[in-house]
Amino acid sequence: MPRTSANERRRTHPLDHGRAPQQWENRLDYRLVTPESNEEAIAMDTAIPEELRMLQSTVRQFVENEVMPLESEYEEELPQEVRAPLQAQLREMGLWALSVPPEYGGAGINTLGMALVIEETHKSMLSRNLIGGGVNPLLYGASDYLKEKYLHPVVRGEARSAGAFSEPGAAGDLGGIQTNYTRDGDDYVLNGTKIWITKGHEADHVVVLAREKGTERQEGVTWFVIDADTPGFEVSRVIPMMGQTTTAEFQLTDCVVPSAHRLTAEGGAWQDAQKSLNGLRLMNGPQVLGLAQRCQDMAVEYAMGRKTFGSLLSERQAVQSMIADSEIEMFATRSMVHQAAMKADRGEDVRREAQMIKVFATEMAGRVIDRALQIHGAAGYSKDLVIEQYYRAVRAYRIFEGPNEVHRWRLGRNMMRG
Ligand SMILES: Cc1cc2nc3c(=O)[nH]c(=O)nc-3n(C[C@H](O)[C@H](O)[C@H](O)COP(=O)(O)OP(=O)(O)OC[C@H]3O[C@@H](n4cnc5c(N)ncnc54)[C@H](O)[C@@H]3O)c2cc1C
Repeated sequence: MPRTSANERRRTHPLDHGRAPQQWENRLDYRLVTPESNEEAIAMDTAIPEELRMLQSTVRQFVENEVMPLESEYEEELPQEVRAPLQAQLREMGLWALSVPPEYGGAGINTLGMALVIEETHKSMLSRNLIGGGVNPLLYGASDYLKEKYLHPVVRGEARSAGAFSEPGAAGDLGGIQTNYTRDGDDYVLNGTKIWITKGHEADHVVVLAREKGTERQEGVTWFVIDADTPGFEVSRVIPMMGQTTTAEFQLTDCVVPSAHRLTAEGGAWQDAQKSLNGLRLMNGPQVLGLAQRCQDMAVEYAMGRKTFGSLLSERQAVQSMIADSEIEMFATRSMVHQAAMKADRGEDVRREAQMIKVFATEMAGRVIDRALQIHGAAGYSKDLVIEQYYRAVRAYRIFEGPNEVHRWRLGRNMMRG
């Protein structure tokens, strides 16, 4: 696999995208050597099938050529008029509904393939959610009616979905949710508050976790699908966040939901909720790897062009150590992710691996991005570069999909249970 040329690497640096003043660009001319690319490292892993490496390479090129140049104009989100043509292009390339099984119109890419793709899409804040058509896996087991009404439109890119389990009183501690339902003939009546729902205010329908009134902890928990325009269902607040995304709060007030919209067996959703969270936690690994790798690439490039006290930063041992530590930690994380993904693809239980990856990867990425910011000095702290966006975005990963402290507690406790 040929080395990435200095010019190719330079194109991917936001300094070249007009975000930074011209004088920064001159510093890049000091570049002496090109570090090994991530692609070479991946190619050396013979366990990754050729077709998945090609898929990864295609996504990487799309992100570098079509998305990164837009970073000088847009921060964190693309407006619909820019997003739509990019998504049309992705669909033409077959990059759509990647993880969805072919019988539902998707590409049926396995967990390892998704890990490779997600790492690439997360190298730009603007491409994180660009490949659409992914559905809530709970819908695969749903009735034909629910599949027709919710699964197929999402796969086709015609409808948007959100998942709501968190509440003001309990989010990490799912057993504490209070949103409740009672049966009323052929309907259910739901009451409660949901909060922190990613893009909840833009969703056409929401998958909501509720408990039968009067039950506690793991008992009586059920998933429902609710149309956003159902009477009694209200977006009560749109909540700006520090980075990542915007979230919403929902109020359910005597919200009548037909029994056909019950997604899981009555009271039997606890295992389903945990299973779907395991999948999300595993994918936290490649997500933060993408964020971290982008910042590491920028740090390497910057260190090779920036002189202080007569020497390049790349010649300073302190900077070399920072770069080396980041590389070691990313290699360890990538190895964990790929191993766990292959295990999941063999149909084995990866609950423990998903927990360990969630903790290790999210903390690793925080350190890598922090080092990259430090190496860039004031430029790293400025809004001229994208690093500050990554610095803010990565912080959320230690909180959502269960706080890291909770995963450590559960992992340790389960290992020492009598
Ligand atoms: C950007 C973002 C997007 C989100 N999107 C969604 C979404 O789409 N849908 C949704 O339903 N939810 C979503 N959430 C909510 C998220 O899942 C919860 O915030 C998360 O599970 C933590 O719950 P909590 O905020 O109630 O924290 P708490 O459970 O109150 O915990 C607070 C802190 O206490 C500590 N702690 C808690 N329990 C323990 C323990 N047992 N041992 C040691 N320390 C502990 C941890 O440090 C933890 O960070 C999102 C959150 C964020 C930040």
